[in-house]
Amino acid sequence: NNANLFCALRAAFFARPDAAAIETDNGLTYSWRDLDRATAMLANLLGSLQLPAGSRVAAHTDKSVEALMLYLATLRAGLVYLPLNTAYQQAELAYFIGDAQPGVIVCSSRNLPWVRELAAQAGVSHVFTLDDNRCGTLLDQAARMDDEHEPVARDADDLAAILYTSGTTGRSKGAMLTHGNLLSNALTLKDYWDWQPGDVLIHALPIFHVHGLFVASHGALLNGSKMLWLSKFDPGAVVERLPRATVFMGVPTLYVRLLGEPGLTRKACASMRLFVSGSAPLLIETFRDWQERTGHTLLERYGMSETVMLASNPCRSSDGSRIGGTVGKPLPGVKIRVVSDGGAPMPTGEVGHIEVQGPNVFKGYWRMPEKTAEEFTADGWFKTGDVGRFDEHGHLTIVGRSKDLIISGGYNIYPAEVESYLNDTEGVAESAVVGVPHADFGEGVIAFVVPRPGVALDEAGLLARLKRQIANYKVPKRIFFADELPRNAMGKVQKNVLRGLHERLFV
Ligand code: ATP
Ligand code: MG
Repeated sequence: NNANLFCALRAAFFARPDAAAIETDNGLTYSWRDLDRATAMLANLLGSLQLPAGSRVAAHTDKSVEALMLYLATLRAGLVYLPLNTAYQQAELAYFIGDAQPGVIVCSSRNLPWVRELAAQAGVSHVFTLDDNRCGTLLDQAARMDDEHEPVARDADDLAAILYTSGTTGRSKGAMLTHGNLLSNALTLKDYWDWQPGDVLIHALPIFHVHGLFVASHGALLNGSKMLWLSKFDPGAVVERLPRATVFMGVPTLYVRLLGEPGLTRKACASMRLFVSGSAPLLIETFRDWQERTGHTLLERYGMSETVMLASNPCRSSDGSRIGGTVGKPLPGVKIRVVSDGGAPMPTGEVGHIEVQGPNVFKGYWRMPEKTAEEFTADGWFKTGDVGRFDEHGHLTIVGRSKDLIISGGYNIYPAEVESYLNDTEGVAESAVVGVPHADFGEGVIAFVVPRPGVALDEAGLLARLKRQIANYKVPKRIFFADELPRNAMGKVQKNVLRGLHERLFV
């Protein structure tokens, strides 16, 4: 019995081999048989390289169906897939390549000159190119391979992929995920999100991150669902495809941009069954605007590179309703607890550290045994680094990250709480609250506010309003206005960058 994740994903390939599996935005259609043959050829090519067991196949490529097939072929060949954010440039890639020491690197041909150099420095023997127009040495060489391939036997505990975290709180860490981690989560979501025959997914997310690579792709593949594939997120192109689709997944910023499309109407969404949001906090305003505009309630879920999905709002109405501002309940098989600094369980309603357990929890950080040991409790729970609370119905709310928690004059301040008051203010588009070193208080609270277009806000007015709403120790000592907040390639606000801007303000 082969526990290779690829075997489970491929099961649906055989149901309707000639049906369309993927339709691209440049007019190509791939059948399930095409996916099977192409992944066989790529797996045969990878196999011909005779790499030692556990070798990593690093991909730094633009989003394309062939790039997805490289992922599937890596699984099929029993190797370890290592996707790299396409936005990363030479200096960043040097770290990842040096750290991961892959056996193979696949890159865009435009980056080949410098990737080849990095590969030579890191002792990587195989470098291929793959572009988003079905060109490159990877496909040239795979074309000469047999189009049949028996998936290499893997145990549930064998590594399937290393996913580098988004680097929001510091340097990215490589999360080692096993075939069993990924399959258990995919099967749970298939059931929990009620994937149905005839579902069609609009795939508009990048495929170097859990959300697009695992949650979206696995869902569609496992269910034998067609994907309408967008090589880049384009709100207009998504809206145009909604009438032919049933499922869409996005990060909150994608929903904000979709709301800017006049074509986003109830009528356009009539065939849709499910909109999933995750990877970053969803503003309650976006949740409400979406409901009003489309008649659909966004399903917010919570997960991370180290654990894939952890908690989700319900999909079927028999499981309850979706509550804005919460990420729902722990997924079946996943255990979540909220604890104090000392590790004692927090009473319902009180904020603490989120710790998790389950078949989806990763094996550890790549070549960081100490960091791995630090992030697990003695009784085997993984410390997510997020803080949150459960309500009396068992719904989890993410309050923020423990690293972003501000301690000022001995008081704990949760940035998300202060941000929510700022965001509710007329003329405020969004905000970010951080703590910077303070000579008297340890940390001082400051805020960054992005005004709505054409609105002039004044610092004193905003501060006076806040003082009427929340305790004085939570009120920022300064508010800075910005045109936008610094975000990383996953659309997450980089609070470390914001802290760095005013490090010396109060010392
Ligand atoms: P790093 O670990 O390198 O600092 P990162 O934590 O942003 O980066 P990811 O693994 O991509 O890297 O993101 C996981 C994190 O994203 C979670 O720990 C959580 O903080 C945040 N997150 C995911 N889903 C949600 C959600 N629905 N609401 C709020 N935050 C979320
Ligand atoms: Mg993280």
